[in-house]
Amino acid sequence: MKHPGRMAQFEGNSAFAFSGRFAMMPEQSNDETTMALQLRPNCEYCDKDLPPSATDARICSYECTFCADCADTRLHNVCPNCGGGFERRPIRPATERRPGVCVTKQLPSDKRVHLKYPLDDIAAHCASLRDIPPQER
Ligand SMILES: [Zn+2]
Ligand SMILES: [Zn+2]
Repeated sequence: MKHPGRMAQFEGNSAFAFSGRFAMMPEQSNDETTMALQLRPNCEYCDKDLPPSATDARICSYECTFCADCADTRLHNVCPNCGGGFERRPIRPATERRPGVCVTKQLPSDKRVHLKYPLDDIAAHCASLRDIPPQER
């Protein structure tokens, strides 16, 4: 590493405190870097593990996180928390391809999240919204 002293001051920060203030990154990019996805570790519905490399992780705009199977077959592309649709969660590179940005620099969240509504409530919520395209909800 070219600037070990400078990097050391950011060790231990969470992904959201990640400032991006290392040598190659201009100050004005701070807002972008603090918007890194949390990369939550599991499906909120079935609790399946969804590591940062998972190709079947789906997220809504609030990063409510589900596996593809639950998103498609149980939720019908309706987020039970916000009513929005899902998209594929991008994979954060395991290898540091640019200084300071990879999955070992901005660590994934370790906080498992679980459904906050009863299943019958979720089923009714999804049934009422599934036929409306996300862009019209
Ligand atoms: Zn699931
Ligand atoms: Zn949501």
